[in-house]
Amino acid sequence: MQRAVFRWLSPLRRGKNGSPFSGLAAAQAEVETLSGKNNAGLPKLPPFDYSPPPYDGARTAEILLKRSEFLSPLSYIYTRILNVVDGKMQYLYDEDGKRYLDAFGGIATVCCGHCHPEVVEVIVNQIKRIQHSTVLYLNHAIADFAEALASKMPGDLKVVFFTNSGTEANELALMIARLYTGCHDIISIRNAYHGNAAGTMGATAQSIWKYNVIQSGVHHAVNPDQYRGAFGSEGEKYAKDVQEIIDFGTSGRIAAFISEAIQGVGGIMELAPGYLPAVYKTIKNAGGLCIADEVQSGFARTGSHFWGFEGHGVIPDIVTMAKGIGNGIPIGAVVTTPEIAEVLTRRNYFNTFGGNPVCTAAGHAVLRVIEKEKLQKNASVVGSYLMDKLKKLQEKHEIIGDVRGRGLMIGVELVSDRQEKTPAKAEILHILELMKEMGVLIGKGGYYGNVFRITPPLCFTKEDTDFLVDVMDVAMSKL
Ligand code: PMP
Repeated sequence: MQRAVFRWLSPLRRGKNGSPFSGLAAAQAEVETLSGKNNAGLPKLPPFDYSPPPYDGARTAEILLKRSEFLSPLSYIYTRILNVVDGKMQYLYDEDGKRYLDAFGGIATVCCGHCHPEVVEVIVNQIKRIQHSTVLYLNHAIADFAEALASKMPGDLKVVFFTNSGTEANELALMIARLYTGCHDIISIRNAYHGNAAGTMGATAQSIWKYNVIQSGVHHAVNPDQYRGAFGSEGEKYAKDVQEIIDFGTSGRIAAFISEAIQGVGGIMELAPGYLPAVYKTIKNAGGLCIADEVQSGFARTGSHFWGFEGHGVIPDIVTMAKGIGNGIPIGAVVTTPEIAEVLTRRNYFNTFGGNPVCTAAGHAVLRVIEKEKLQKNASVVGSYLMDKLKKLQEKHEIIGDVRGRGLMIGVELVSDRQEKTPAKAEILHILELMKEMGVLIGKGGYYGNVFRITPPLCFTKEDTDFLVDVMDVAMSKL
């Protein structure tokens, strides 16, 4: 059965001698101890008053076999993958009822907590009443959410187009910019991630994500990376590259510049201060539109602001969003000005499910919950607490090269040599696995895959933070 289970894992996750994961043998042994009974003295999860219903569905091995036969041959970051069967707020439960702190899922899906009762109730009520295509008839849920979303936007950003995902939102934003300006050229930043369709894949300049999908007219600017970049935190110096691309790589006119405010997949890297204001000016001078991809940094996550771009003091022409917007329900959106939105009336933009009544009802409920539960404030308070604790941990463990981010969007970059900033690629997998066994789930990203991404649901508490940092400390001490 082992052969069958591991057959579909990519060669990266197999050992050189053919045995699965031999490179992680040490981690495996450690994991056995941590997940076993002999775990006295390890950090304890904060108490939580919820027990998931009993689970009698398929178990891990059975699901893995099915996946190997019927699903795509993708690999996972964990060697011992979890079968997640329940979720409640910031916690997940496996097939044995073991509880895990989900310090990553806030970005992947749920901004205000797994199965948030208020959001679930709204979804159930709406689907009992009517679910339909977005574009054929009127429904108040769609218009109500558009109005509520527009009210969270600065300036004249008032017109909303709904989509099913972040990829679709960015594809639409790029198309709008091209139609509006009559130009084709796009500039994105190296190490960005914007989606998995042809246009967005072209704009995504991340080595591991970039397939050889040729996109004409897409230029990748130097990344204003505050940790590894040549100019450190001097944003304006990096911004000159954008002007040079326009001067030497285009006709002098441009359709759009697209960027995240804090690169998510790229390893939670906030663009160097001063970069965006300088680039936005350059792009405007070249007749282009500025697109802010808020798929990860939006919806109060940064704590200081509701949108990531606000932390840079700029106002984009187009804003895109997805992921947390629906708290687990697939929906994305593009928000722009009435003048720019008008270009789509010259064409027929049709999207069957983008922003249907169920998804928009969910999105509206998410906005209400963020407000009611003061989740932006929580992101700010708990985020600073977490940042302080991680910085202290950095003093203890040489392997932590950098701790960065805003609110509950935090990156921890691991290096095997602080001076050389050598990416600790193998070590990160080991630590990730150990942390999972001790009950903490976090993400991984960055150009070299050596950055922890800590992006929990916004209901994360200080007690959760203590647990996470203690567990990370134990895992790092075992290296
Ligand atoms: N933009 C950013 C910043 C993202 O992180 C992602 C997803 N990782 C996307 C766009 C694409 O979103 P989706 O996966 O919903 O298509």
